[in-house]
Amino acid sequence: MATVKRDYYEVLGVGRNATAEELRAAYRKLAMQYHPDRNNGDKQAEERFKEIGEAYSVLSDPQKRQRYDAFGHAADGVPPDFGAFSFDSAFDLFDMFFGGGTRRRARTGPQRGDDLRMNIEITFEEAVFGAKRTVDVPRAGVCAECGGSGARLGTESSQCPTCGGAGQVRRTMQSIFGQVTNVSTCPHCRGEGHVVNDPCPHCRGQGRVEERRMVEVTIPAGVDDDVTLRLPGEGEVGPRGGPSGDLYLGFRVKPHPQLVRRGQDIIYELPVSVPQAVLGDTITVPTVSGEHAVELAPGTQPGKQIKLHGLGVPHVRSGRRGDQICVVRVVVPTHLSHQERGVYEQLGGREGKPAEVRKGFFDSVREAFRG
Ligand SMILES: [Zn+2]
Ligand SMILES: [Zn+2]
Repeated sequence: MATVKRDYYEVLGVGRNATAEELRAAYRKLAMQYHPDRNNGDKQAEERFKEIGEAYSVLSDPQKRQRYDAFGHAADGVPPDFGAFSFDSAFDLFDMFFGGGTRRRARTGPQRGDDLRMNIEITFEEAVFGAKRTVDVPRAGVCAECGGSGARLGTESSQCPTCGGAGQVRRTMQSIFGQVTNVSTCPHCRGEGHVVNDPCPHCRGQGRVEERRMVEVTIPAGVDDDVTLRLPGEGEVGPRGGPSGDLYLGFRVKPHPQLVRRGQDIIYELPVSVPQAVLGDTITVPTVSGEHAVELAPGTQPGKQIKLHGLGVPHVRSGRRGDQICVVRVVVPTHLSHQERGVYEQLGGREGKPAEVRKGFFDSVREAFRG
């Protein structure tokens, strides 16, 4: 190929940071437009068609694309195997012109039921320690009357006359790549290989009916809003005896009035009075495992973090528990009694300049803001 090659991105009319989807869409559109079958053997269209295929085969392969981005056409060996499409892109192309549009394997046998997704609300404590719940799942279940076959009681389904029970049909066609055989799911029996002649009146031949099923769920300790539980086989049953899909269960965790979760740790804002901060105290605080005594040292600064080891949330997989972190907030009184005002005035310290600060004070304030 001695001719000057056009830039692959330019050929497909996409930007250099086009996503795989964008590339694919651009390629499909152009390949449709310049396909030889649609251009009555126009040589120029055929050249363009090849150019498009070549550009796509390189840019759709992440490794080749990377090399092309780095070296351009100079990176020979970029498409040394060129001139023809790779098997994959030929297959793609064939599918695109003669079949469903997206590449999908011909399906045979009974169809699988849909997966279901549900969210349930749980308390903060249930998320931390796990729980057992019964979840009411509305779904398609097996028709009790026909046992899921879809055929009227006492009758049976028969072999599909279109595909002879194979569930798929083959079509051989001529294309510019030679003879290509397209295998697709039989449209008559939808791949099942058999058809119902006398449908069950209860499910109208579907083999399934709407039902509400109570599913027992064990919620593991440590789940959070972003955890999804998969319950295999608890989704919708497939039509005419097809296997069931799965149930995906998500969680909405109700907030706790005092505790906030941050990953495996639990944050508790510990309000203390000025005398408590100045003189120190032993304070009882709430944790998910009940009340717990915290030692407040004399001279505790606002923002100080006191860690209660192992009183956080267990990791949903490893089970390792995080900590509870109590962040001290000094509550400055806004309403003083006459007597209190007198006490504060006696303390002095109002000289019209910033208070003397020992080194280290701002470190603890910064620490409080970091979280
Ligand atoms: Zn039925
Ligand atoms: Zn069939």
